[in-house]
Amino acid sequence: MASIAHWIKSFTLWELLKGMRLTGRYLFSRKITVQYPEEKTPMSPRFRGLHALRRYKNGEERCIACKLCEAVCPALAITIDSEQREDGTRRTTRYDIDLFKCIFCGFCEEACPVDSIVETRHFEYHFENQGDQIMTKSDLLKIGDRFEDQIAADRKADAPYR
Ligand code: SF4
Ligand code: SF4
Repeated sequence: MASIAHWIKSFTLWELLKGMRLTGRYLFSRKITVQYPEEKTPMSPRFRGLHALRRYKNGEERCIACKLCEAVCPALAITIDSEQREDGTRRTTRYDIDLFKCIFCGFCEEACPVDSIVETRHFEYHFENQGDQIMTKSDLLKIGDRFEDQIAADRKADAPYR
């Protein structure tokens, strides 16, 4: 009996018809393919992309060189040197993040008491030379300056959930 059913299915191309039915169903359904990079998917305000160091509105850098981010980083990707300024405040003289070591866990931004180190929504970047993956303090501050409006808006949107 089973062999007769098998024969009928083979003769009527049953498997092919089943496949065509599935194809037909998706042919007219709503398309979900995103035409990147022209189209982008929605992004969470908590997206963990490229790092940035932020400043206050008066231009002063936020970072107080407490080194909590360096201590909490599980990948040992952050290297900080610091010194005391003439006004008695402490600031970093070196703040490097090695993006080849970083696992984008977000622990550094969670640990920062002054919202200085953050991860932006920016993820479309590349490196062309050996060593470019080390983001220096000036690189990070530049990224912070460039994306400050977006960073501030994201942190405001996310504030009730922190
Ligand atoms: S995101 Fe995680 S791994 Fe990357 S620098 Fe911050 S703490 Fe380290
Ligand atoms: S970025 Fe934040 S956590 Fe890291 S040293 Fe500066 S103030 Fe401290």
